[in-house]
Parts: sequence; structure tokens; C-alpha cells
Amino acid sequence: MSRPKIRRQRPPFKACRKCKLLVSHEEEKCPRCGSTDFTEEWDGMVIILDPENSKIAEILGIKEPGRYAIRIR
Ligand SMILES: [Zn+2]
Repeated sequence: MSRPKIRRQRPPFKACRKCKLLVSHEEEKCPRCGSTDFTEEWDGMVIILDPENSKIAEILGIKEPGRYAIRIR
């Protein structure tokens, strides 16, 4: 039995290559770091509410609360 192939849909967000923040496609500049370098090639979304006490935030090097991509390809 073969599993059906799941086509990846266009992600609802794009990720800042610099700080991994996820922003909507309308955004021209990253509100966090001011970068204009975005990618749609990212995996996994994480919402950091409390970076001080978050292991994930520590691993990803995130200092500010927000919505981030876990991996940028
Ligand atoms: Zn950024």
C-alpha cells in the first residue's frame, strides 16, 4: 500500500532569514530586526510566549516573544 503524497501548500507566512520571525506575506520588512531577506522555505512553527523560561527559545536563540520558524532551509 502506498501512502498518498501530500502536496505542500504555500505557507501562510514567510520567515525572516535573520531572526526566523514569521510574518505575513504583506510585510515588507521584518518588524523584529528590520531585515528584508525572507524565505518561504521553512519548517515548523513555534510560538514563544516566554523566552526567558523556554528551552526552545534558548535552542533557537530567540530573545523576544513571537511566532518563529524552527528551521529555515
Ligand atoms: Zn528578522
